[in-house]
Amino acid sequence: MLLYAPEECLLHEMQPQHPERPDRLRAICAGLEASGLADACERRSAAAISAADLSKIHGSSHLAALNALQPQSGLAFVDGDTPMCPDSLQAAALAAGAVADAVGQVLAERGQRAFCAVRPPGHHAEADTAMGFCFYNSIALGAQRALREVERVAILDFDVHHGNGTVDIFKDRPEVLVCSSFQHPFFPNRYVHIDRPNIVNTPLPAGTQGPAFRHALERDWSAALKAHRPQLILISAGFDAHREDPLAGLLLHDEDFRWATDFIVDLAETYAEGRIVSALEGGYDLNALSRCAVLHVEGLKG
Ligand SMILES: [Zn+2]
Repeated sequence: MLLYAPEECLLHEMQPQHPERPDRLRAICAGLEASGLADACERRSAAAISAADLSKIHGSSHLAALNALQPQSGLAFVDGDTPMCPDSLQAAALAAGAVADAVGQVLAERGQRAFCAVRPPGHHAEADTAMGFCFYNSIALGAQRALREVERVAILDFDVHHGNGTVDIFKDRPEVLVCSSFQHPFFPNRYVHIDRPNIVNTPLPAGTQGPAFRHALERDWSAALKAHRPQLILISAGFDAHREDPLAGLLLHDEDFRWATDFIVDLAETYAEGRIVSALEGGYDLNALSRCAVLHVEGLKG
């Protein structure tokens, strides 16, 4: 089991009260240390994703505009909720680089699974739009890296927000199955009603509890994975569907995230030789985030 937690991901800072803050990674790492899991995993570092790799997913003029927007000091806003500081794009490039490296390692069988404790998150970043705390779509860049070596991958996203960026990027690329569960109606409300065989949306009403969440994933994702037979599973691991999370209204407990992890591990064992690369997306209550990330890594490690 490989663990990535690049220090550079702490350098991305938005406003002091912003929920997507460096303490999220500190809370996860403290939880993994205290549980003994950090020592039981192999720690790896990775280089930033290259400009050439970024441009395979994001448009060149969009990337140039992001570079131009990044401030020398203070903050610049890509949207009302998403400021950039001078280090934000470097942190985003490290986050994506970690996911891509993890994919390479897992496909080379230097570890069956990997967890990337990275930020900023990525799943709202569309090909030509940065939004919703996200700049580069790390999980999409990981999938792109995988497709150098395999023919079919699946991205499973249980963050409380829809993975609109990942859908935007892969909606016309049938080799990538994208399954996303999310609160609906809710932010970002893009690509909810899309009709593509490789896009599986699982909207859940506010107030949804664990049993209904589990039933929905078994109903929608199992059949999709069976049809797609991915050779690698990537996880957009957001923990903001937790009942203690301040940003959203689903009511999952810690055990539901462990269940989701075990469910995906089973799918990976069936179709993908057990291979999984998971990357952090959301999760904004530090205590719940830390506990659930520990359960997630424990489940991945097996
Ligand atoms: Zn989220």
